[in-house]
Order: sequence, then C-alpha cells, then structure tokens
Amino acid sequence: MSAMKVVVIEDEPDILELIEYNLRREGFEVATATTGRSGLAVIGREKPDIVLLDLLLPGLDGLDVCRRLRAVESTRDLPVIMVTARGEESDVVLGLGVGADDYIHKPFSPRELIARVRAVLRRGPMRDSDPDRRVVRGPLVIDPVKHRIEVDGRRIEFTPTEFRLLHFLASHPGRVFTRGQLLDRAVGDRVVVIDRNIDVHVRAVRKKLGPHRGLLQTVRGIGYCFRDEEA
Ligand code: CA
Repeated sequence: MSAMKVVVIEDEPDILELIEYNLRREGFEVATATTGRSGLAVIGREKPDIVLLDLLLPGLDGLDVCRRLRAVESTRDLPVIMVTARGEESDVVLGLGVGADDYIHKPFSPRELIARVRAVLRRGPMRDSDPDRRVVRGPLVIDPVKHRIEVDGRRIEFTPTEFRLLHFLASHPGRVFTRGQLLDRAVGDRVVVIDRNIDVHVRAVRKKLGPHRGLLQTVRGIGYCFRDEEA
C-alpha cells in the first residue's frame, strides 16, 4: 500500500513544522501551504487523502477553504480535520457546519494528532446514512425496516425522533455532530418534530439505553457523538 498523503495548511511555521515532522515520522507523505489560497492549489495538485486545515489563516480562512472544497465534486468527500485554538468551541461548531470531518485543538500532542488522522481516514467520507440500513453496535441492534431497537437482546420502544437520532449517530461512530446538524440530518423533515431541542431527545434516548447510556457522548459546547469502540 502506498503512503497516505496529507496536505497541511497552517500559517504558523513552528506548528507547521511540528505537524509535518510527526506525520512524516508515521509514514505519511506531506505537502504544505501557509495560506488558504495556496492550500487549495496544493490540494488540486497533490490529490491528498486528507487535509489538516488551520482555521485562522490570512486571507481565505479555514472555513472558506472548507466551503470551497465541499462545493467541488473532486473534493466533496475529501476528509478535512480543522485545527482550532483551544477553548474556541464556537469555531468548532462553525467548522463542522461547513463540512469538516473532525477537529483538533491547539496545542495538541503528536500522538493525539496521529490518532485523529487515522480515525478520520478509517471512518471514510461522511455519507448520509441509509435510513433503512440495519446498524449493530455492541449491545445495540437498530432495524429501521422493522422499526425495532434491541438493547442487550431486549426490545425497547423509541419515538420516531429518538429512533432516527440514535440510528443516525450509531451509523457514524466517533464522529461529532453539532445540534444543528443533528436537527437537519438526523431528525430532518420526515417526521414532525415536537421538540426542536436536541438535548431533550438525547436525554430520552440515554434513559432508554440504561447501562449503555454512555454510548451517546456529550462533546461539551459542540454537540454529540456515538462512542467509537475502535478508537
Ligand atoms: Ca493560524
């Protein structure tokens, strides 16, 4: 298997060097850029497997770059990890909102960086989950065709909204979604949503999961994630 290629777009030379060094040490091929505009050119030329994208860049910032990548067929599914300043949860929400696959806060350890890159590559591109697909995760079996959820082999009743929310999150383990994304993508317009407050639905789902409530993880200030057992 040939090496995975990463494009890193980062305007701070020290951080760029650190990221590049650690990725190369782990066997990744690396190409770099220090502005959003040149980053887009490098991506077009290098056809990477994944992009590490600093949010705050001069000129075209990380959000603009991500939007542009998502707007073009050839890069629509290209995995993007947004690099943000610690504590800037609102930036993460924006980043995920424009289609970033994941995020990492500065400063990060080399180990954390590599783990994130590998996890995103393993998960593959974000797809709208097939609403009819049966999903099995640990103690959980979700069968949308029969509208049936089993927890430890026992059938539990879920409302349509809870059902779609759990099915959606369980279809994308390890991936963080904002509340807005969950409303749009998971709950959607197929069912009449009585309560547009996602937290209420998550609470109800957790209660029904009982001892497995921890499968639905809260990501503080950002949203929710279904626990990735492989991570
Ligand atoms: Ca920066």
